[in-house]
Amino acid sequence: MTLKVAIIGRPNVGKSTLFNRLVGKRLALVDDRPGVTRDRREGDARIGRLSFTIIDTAGLEQGDPDTLEGRMRAQTEEAIEDADLSLFLVDVRSGITPLDQHFADLLRKSGKPVSLIANKAEGRLGESGYYEAFSLGFGEPVPISAEHGEGMADLYDVITDFKAEHGFADDDPEAIAIHNVTVTEDGAADVDLTRPMQVAVVGRPNAGKSTLINQLLGEDRLLTGPEAGLTRDSIAVDWQWNGRMFKLFDTAGLRKKARVQEKLEKLSVADALRAIRFAEVVIVTLDATIPFEKRDLQIVDLVEKEGRAVVIALNKWDLIEDRGATLKELRLEAERLLPQVRGVPMIPISGLNNQGLDKLFKAVTSVHETWNARISTARLNKWLSHVVDHHPPPAIAGRRVKIRYMTQAKTRPPTFVVFCSRPDALAESYRRYLLNGIRETFKLSGIPLRVIMRKGDNPYDTGRDKGRS
Ligand code: GDP
Ligand code: GDP
Repeated sequence: MTLKVAIIGRPNVGKSTLFNRLVGKRLALVDDRPGVTRDRREGDARIGRLSFTIIDTAGLEQGDPDTLEGRMRAQTEEAIEDADLSLFLVDVRSGITPLDQHFADLLRKSGKPVSLIANKAEGRLGESGYYEAFSLGFGEPVPISAEHGEGMADLYDVITDFKAEHGFADDDPEAIAIHNVTVTEDGAADVDLTRPMQVAVVGRPNAGKSTLINQLLGEDRLLTGPEAGLTRDSIAVDWQWNGRMFKLFDTAGLRKKARVQEKLEKLSVADALRAIRFAEVVIVTLDATIPFEKRDLQIVDLVEKEGRAVVIALNKWDLIEDRGATLKELRLEAERLLPQVRGVPMIPISGLNNQGLDKLFKAVTSVHETWNARISTARLNKWLSHVVDHHPPPAIAGRRVKIRYMTQAKTRPPTFVVFCSRPDALAESYRRYLLNGIRETFKLSGIPLRVIMRKGDNPYDTGRDKGRS
């Protein structure tokens, strides 16, 4: 059963804009003038991997003002009846109008599920229109910007929660926590599939980087030459796997035979750093027969500090005898030695024998998605209040630090800002505790995460709780 969602609201609140964003095509007409002729239309909507049918009710006809309300009413009532869930759109910039109240009444009378959406909420959080929207009586409005694509993660949550509560099948339960749900103009996730994914292959000398890259490229390798800003030892190569474009950066490989000597020299940190900075995902190549040497750990640390996603390739796996036990041991060792990228994917490969390379790039693609993940504010705060209730921060000099609110400030890597009363008085161990909790709960393993403590209140706080703090 496909979920049907209707977009309800007065003219000009942004219904068509939202419809277009969710459907990803310029199907509906967007016009500044209220009342432009439009038919009611349905489309296949997507937010990330979530799909549903969306009904646009932006169907006001120009004409006799006396019949305006009548027309809106008939059209809207039909859509509400037809849909499982209505998204009631209001415009935070113009504030709540009598016509909004009219639609609110209509929705209330229908007795069907409604979610209040505060559109045009880009930029400033404190729009007075947002607070006014509480007065409509549909609870806390979900702030979005249909035009700028903000708040799509929250919308995703609203619809996903609705599906779960009303017995609709999940599209992909695995994807819910980690998938980047920000949608672009074409309705795809924020991971831009048309641009090559930048991947660096690093590791200490003799780990097998050149062998790996040459194996990946095969005979018909396509050299695009040294990229600007890279030394002549670092080379970018275009490569395709599974229909996906990659740009591979290599610090030591792909050298001409004459320069073979050079690659045995010490890995220049500056060189590796340059490749890492160009990369989104870094494959750290280890020699599985002598893993986790000091230089390996330094390289992973460098990648983490630069905020890049990491995949560890356990190379020369063909030389390993007891593979099961070795892998187990190496995983344990990674937990201990590399806590900063807990859960990092470790893929046994043999560059020489062309083994495990598919798995390696599956891991690269997956970790890239995690690196781009956006977790909705609603989900984060639900988690935060639970955590703070069960494990409050320790009191310092008899005073508790109040943790108020959190939000994800950016992706690549996921960066979270936690607002609290006195960030300076909060133990570092508590920040780490929050970081580990976020990593586990939202399945953000194997990538760097940032948690920043800031002094401040909940920017969405309507003032109801201010008296208490
Ligand atoms: P509808 O009549 O409810 O379908 O509204 P439209 O989708 O036609 O949008 C009306 C106007 O609001 C257009 O000029 C849109 O560009 C603008 N609009 C829609 N969404 C947003 C938004 O998120 N932010 C801002 N600033 N403007 C928006
Ligand atoms: P780089 O310095 O990291 O570029 O390492 P190379 O690719 O030059 O490899 C160093 C040595 O390890 C060479 O003798 C390779 O043949 C060998 N080697 C690379 N990959 C493998 C592998 O998967 N299995 C085995 N047994 N040897 C490998």
